[in-house]
Amino acid sequence: MVAYRFHDHLGQSLPYSPGKVVCVGRNYLDHIQELNNDVPEQPLLFMKPSTALQPFANEIQIPQSQGECHNELEVAVLIKAPLSHASVEDVQSAVWGYGLALDLTLRDVQTQLKTKGHPWERAKAFDGSCPLSGFVPAHGVENYKALKFSLNVNGAERQSGDTAMMIHDIDSLISEISAVFTLLPGDVVLTGTPKGVGPLVAGDRVEASLGGILNTGATVTAYD
Ligand code: ZN
Repeated sequence: MVAYRFHDHLGQSLPYSPGKVVCVGRNYLDHIQELNNDVPEQPLLFMKPSTALQPFANEIQIPQSQGECHNELEVAVLIKAPLSHASVEDVQSAVWGYGLALDLTLRDVQTQLKTKGHPWERAKAFDGSCPLSGFVPAHGVENYKALKFSLNVNGAERQSGDTAMMIHDIDSLISEISAVFTLLPGDVVLTGTPKGVGPLVAGDRVEASLGGILNTGATVTAYD
């Protein structure tokens, strides 16, 4: 699998090494409803290691022998400075910018793990489970609090979201995360997926767009 390197939306490389990816589950009501989940009282957090990253460009690789592998398109936030127990007001000073990620999820595996009350890592944190785009610098994003994003699969829209629809908005989410996990430069926060998750298969063409400022696309290939 191709290693991910941080770069901006124009392809210019950025001086950060990939760190951890901290993710939130169930941050959009429409997605909670499509999976018949409960609204969590506090953000439902999980992590992917740096080895989960692969470029969201050209080709993305998914496992094909472990049941359905679902797309979850999410707005990704690149952290540029340490954050620990940060106030909501302090979060933006540590944000480099915004990109798009797929929180690839082995849905059948996850359902089995949930049933048994086991951790989700096998379903969420495997190698390549986080295709990641380049990043638009924060100053290039007019309003990160109302940023539209969408995913097309084979030319048909599958997901469309707006950060204004989050249950926990970006700043409060990252503030909360930083009280549990110290964030470091090169860490990435995934902010949750709207409805429209579904299986990807080899040969699918996926195109993603963020607020008209970032576009990326890839062809899906599968491995055993
Ligand atoms: Zn997700």
